[in-house]
Amino acid sequence: MMSEGVDYSKIGLLVGLECHQQLATRTKLFCSCKPSLFKGEPKITFVRRLRPTQSELGQVDPAAYFEFKKGVRILYEADNETSCLVEMDEEPPHPLNPEAIEVALTVALMMNAKPVDEIHVMRKTVIDGSNTTGFQRTCVVALNGSIEVEGRTVPIEHISLEEDAARKTGGEGFEIRYRIDRLGIPLIEVTTGPVIRSPREAQRVALAIGRILRATKKVRRGIGTIRQDLNVSIRDGALIEIKGVQELELISKVVEYEAKRQLGLLEIRDELKKRGLVEEEIREEFHDATELFKETGCRVLKRAINQGKKVLAVKLPKFSGLLSREIAPGMRLGREMADRARFWGRVGGIFHTDELPAYGVTEDEVDRLKRLVGAGPEDAVVFVADSLENATDALRAVVERAKEALRGVPEETRAANPDGTTRYMRPRPGAARMYPETDIPPIRIDEEYLQELASKLPELPEEAVKRLMKEYNLNEKLANQLVDSEYLGLFEEIVRVSRRVSPRAVAATLTETFKALRRDGVDVGEVSDEQILEVFRLVDSGRTTKEAIPEIITWLSKHRGRSGEEAVEALGLTVISGDDLRALVDRVLQENAEVVRERGEGAFGFLMGYIMKRFRGRLDAKVVSELLRERLKNIHGE
Ligand SMILES: [Zn+2]
Repeated sequence: MMSEGVDYSKIGLLVGLECHQQLATRTKLFCSCKPSLFKGEPKITFVRRLRPTQSELGQVDPAAYFEFKKGVRILYEADNETSCLVEMDEEPPHPLNPEAIEVALTVALMMNAKPVDEIHVMRKTVIDGSNTTGFQRTCVVALNGSIEVEGRTVPIEHISLEEDAARKTGGEGFEIRYRIDRLGIPLIEVTTGPVIRSPREAQRVALAIGRILRATKKVRRGIGTIRQDLNVSIRDGALIEIKGVQELELISKVVEYEAKRQLGLLEIRDELKKRGLVEEEIREEFHDATELFKETGCRVLKRAINQGKKVLAVKLPKFSGLLSREIAPGMRLGREMADRARFWGRVGGIFHTDELPAYGVTEDEVDRLKRLVGAGPEDAVVFVADSLENATDALRAVVERAKEALRGVPEETRAANPDGTTRYMRPRPGAARMYPETDIPPIRIDEEYLQELASKLPELPEEAVKRLMKEYNLNEKLANQLVDSEYLGLFEEIVRVSRRVSPRAVAATLTETFKALRRDGVDVGEVSDEQILEVFRLVDSGRTTKEAIPEIITWLSKHRGRSGEEAVEALGLTVISGDDLRALVDRVLQENAEVVRERGEGAFGFLMGYIMKRFRGRLDAKVVSELLRERLKNIHGE
């Protein structure tokens, strides 16, 4: 296992980022639908069959094609608000959304990139059904920029606009379901050069890019609105593309694990060479072990055999012990082989002798299996149970992966898991094949327009931090958190109208409180700026209290389109005041008559805590304390 504290410059780590951020423009990129997602049951569904032609297969992986050539049925779900005939591919796309272009150009200028003279929309073939057209529309807006991150200049290769794809909502195999609400939401793509040299730096660069994007105040927020792809390589390793990191905090971990994984694979390569393995020894010689496992106690194997499936086994010479060796946290060569077998052979998984006897497979069965395939103590055996066709394809993929292990790190596209590990996704595609989108006219960017944009660029994030500290007396941490959140604009709007809640408390609510809610699974991104502003207005007018805000936000996140007032009513969080409050205080005094008798005005602290705890979120602490002091004084005086 790799030690901690890897010297990243020594291993030649290089990382490039590709950041995708959804924009909160008024309409989508190629039509006038609202860029938002709908919940609940779809009002419209329609079916398409995709049969990609051979000519489209430039960058398509054979396994996906294998499925699709059988004619996959795709069920699309839609509603009227978030999609129209454009998303359904029944009407040509409208011209590029000028608001999205403006945001992209603004970002480009903030990153010192050179805008193109003319924006040309291109089509990029996509055959997984996530685009109703069979391609994704994309256009380069600017090239060759740079940003400064902790004293280093990081090159920005290009800034582009893309349409987001439909989102998968279910189905496997021959029927897949997609929801087209997300299709056509503008995405801005920012790509850095592959110059980042450590996991920590990767995270800092991603953060810096995110800050510039948010400075435009035109980005969507919430889960899934920002997605990072990473390119990671080390010296002697390979360029690995990692797709779909959704949490910024995860980037350094993903990079760290990938560097370790590549190092671990290089160690396995060296070990195999030391054991004297040559590629010709790894052979596609598959043995039928069905008979051997006929009486097995392993439930998975038994079920497969009862269904008439075959058990096929292959010897991996000199691999003993290497399949189960941990190469990075949670990642092993055996698991990589299983991923490949699943992908290419459509099997559920593989068995290998490094982890046996286990799962009901006995030592005796392992011995007999080794004899069957002619394996010695230095060798490993991999086997699968499935149809002859699938099992054969799966073992072929395992043999291929074994050969690659002897060469080092195979180039591939991997997908990020939520714990920072990655899994095999597909082979690395060749350069994307692009075709001009003839339905959309190119857009000229004239110099005058650029100058106008350059004269009104948003405040840079660092400047915003300084201003917030000065203007609102926020500490540096809170000011930074606010700039890193998507709520800076809203913060200033709230403090402009709010008298009861201090700027510091507003900032803490929009950052720390919201973060805690998100951690508890509340989708805060569902709550609109207008709703949040209304909640602060309700606090301001004395309808409810500051303490009630988290509960109200939680309720609003689950009740789309309802008002803050409705939330306060539904939750019973209206403030107790006037006669009701006086009655409440008197009741508490009676209930605690003994304490009051013994301690007199000294009981204040105890009683205040008691009341606020019992009626949390429904009382204005200041009013209660005044009333309580007054009543205690009276009692004492009696
Ligand atoms: Zn539309």
